[in-house]
Amino acid sequence: MTSTKVQYFEKIETTQHQNFVQNQGHCVLCRNVLELKHISQKDMNLIKEEAYCIECDVKTRAKFYTLN
Ligand SMILES: [Zn+2]
Repeated sequence: MTSTKVQYFEKIETTQHQNFVQNQGHCVLCRNVLELKHISQKDMNLIKEEAYCIECDVKTRAKFYTLN
């Protein structure tokens, strides 16, 4: 049975994505693995990326990617 549910985030399949997560996915303060969130804002053609450290209770970045 095939699920037709759309998975919105944390679906990492390619090597490129895995490298990106390994490089970008650690807190600069405590080296803990960051929680990454990707929020799509389709009305504005934007993807918002947030990285959050649970240990430090700190949001380390919020980036916007434009969809072309
Ligand atoms: Zn941290």
